[in-house]
This record gives sequence, structure tokens and C-alpha cells, in this order.
Amino acid sequence: MSNIVLTISTNIQKEVMAYYASNYIERKAPGVIFAAKLPDTSITMYKSGKLMFQGGGAEREAARWGIIEKTTSQKSSTIGAKGDTLPDQFATMSVLGSDETGTGDYFGPITVAAVYVPASKIELINELGVKDSKMLTDDYMRKIAPDLRAACVHSVLVLRNDKYNNLQAKGYSQGKMKAMMHNKALQNTLVKMAPEKPEFILIDQFAERGVYYNYLKNEREIVQENVYFSTKAEQLHVAVATASILARAAFLKEMDRLSNIAGLELMKGASNKVDVQAARIWRKQGEEFLRSITKWHFANTEKARKMI
Ligand code: MG
Repeated sequence: MSNIVLTISTNIQKEVMAYYASNYIERKAPGVIFAAKLPDTSITMYKSGKLMFQGGGAEREAARWGIIEKTTSQKSSTIGAKGDTLPDQFATMSVLGSDETGTGDYFGPITVAAVYVPASKIELINELGVKDSKMLTDDYMRKIAPDLRAACVHSVLVLRNDKYNNLQAKGYSQGKMKAMMHNKALQNTLVKMAPEKPEFILIDQFAERGVYYNYLKNEREIVQENVYFSTKAEQLHVAVATASILARAAFLKEMDRLSNIAGLELMKGASNKVDVQAARIWRKQGEEFLRSITKWHFANTEKARKMI
């Protein structure tokens, strides 16, 4: 399917609306100010000045209004990405993506999200603020997450500290926990979206394919059909970028809850400042409490122990 986006001025916007007035359709989506449907092309106009054409006649219709500036395809040769070679035009396809966060933070959970973005929703998701996801701050991600959750079939999993510490004590590596969470989140999403199926699944790579599936070897259900792995996958498909935002929003929400019960704003990361904060909590609320809000096996624990 062809997918073309033009940026147009306010004057041209008016001309476009007049031109397609008889093909007008109602489309209640965030940011959309006009939509029309021809037999072979869908036309969507956004407040931002973007005008999108989708379908067999996309090129013909787009050519009426401007120079074709870009298609929504991205090169699979995103700079520095490692992993599977993706099909051409991968960014325009219907993809289920997954990503995790919280793995390097002493305080708080690991969260994983899987999100399905079909081709027909790619532009909408971008308009909801996912593009330029490298620029996104925590506050911004919290703000756009509810719209994204409403717009996409998804699954978000939160591995709280108690459970994390128990699994860790049983010998589970963080890699294994992550693999199990990705697998589960992907499964959940596939169930929710059935009978629809994604063209491909893309996992933001934290382990090579063989290592990932080795972690899952005792699982009853293993998602492996049409699965690709790549680092920097959030730049390769908006589904992974969205997953990364939903995972982050869930992490921040759990951090808020923990900060609340700890009575101070918990720090992210695992720096020396985190050791100091951990020691302070240890002195005030004791070891068991500290354990219940941290990834206990991190080196921060021993450093904090020396401070108290
Ligand atoms: Mg990742």
C-alpha cells in the first residue's frame, strides 16, 4: 500500500477541502481536520498541516497538491541498528512491536509493552506525538500515553520489585525475565487483536535471537512466527516507538506509587546519588522496606549498606 504525506499551507488546505468536498467522510481522530475517501485513495488532513494519501491512487492524488516530500517508509539501514535485515518499506507495514524499560534503574520495576500499529494507523500514531521519540521527555510521554493506549491494541506488564527479587533469588537473570515478559506481552496482544494478525513482529533487541529463545525454552507458548529482532527498533517502526512510550509511562506510574510510600521522590538510574538516597531510606524505614522498592542485587545495595 502506498502512503504519501505532504506538508501544505492553510490556503492549500482550503482548496483541498473544496476539491474533495463531495467525497467527505467523518473521521473522529485526534488532530484530523478533514478526511475524504475516493474509490482507491483515503485522504486525511491534519491540524499540523500534514496531508496524507493512502491507497492505490495515493501518488496520483498527492501530485495534485505538491511535490511528494516523503513516504512514511524508513530505511531499514537506520544508523547503527544491529539485528535482522527488515523487508523494504517495513515502516509502512502492520507491525506488533515490543520494548522494555526500568532494567538499569535501582528503584522501581521492569516494565514491558507490546503494541500493534496497523498500516492504517501509522499516521495517526505519529500525529499523537510519537514521531521524534528520541526527543520525548518523561512528562511528555506521560501526557501522550493515554491517547496511545486508547488508539492501539496493546499489553503492558509491570514486574514489581518483590516479584523481581524473588525471581532473581531463584536464579533468573534479568535477560530471562525480560524475555518472558516480552513473550507474554506479545501473546496477550495477539489474543486481543485476533483474528487480525500483524504482518510482522519486531522486538527491540536486548539479546540475540538464539539467546532470547533459549530463555523461553520452558515456556508453554512461544511467539516466534514472523518475529524480527533489531536494536534501535523504535526508529524502525512506530509500533516499537509506541511500546517504548507505554512501557515508560507504566514505569513512571509505579515510580510515583513507590515514591509516595517512601515519602520522597525516588531517583532513576543507579548512580552514586542513588546509593545516598537508598542509605537514607534504609536508615529511616529499614532493610525490608528498601528491598521491596529496589532491584536488590544491584551493587547500590552494598554501597548503601556501607553508608548506614
Ligand atoms: Mg529497548
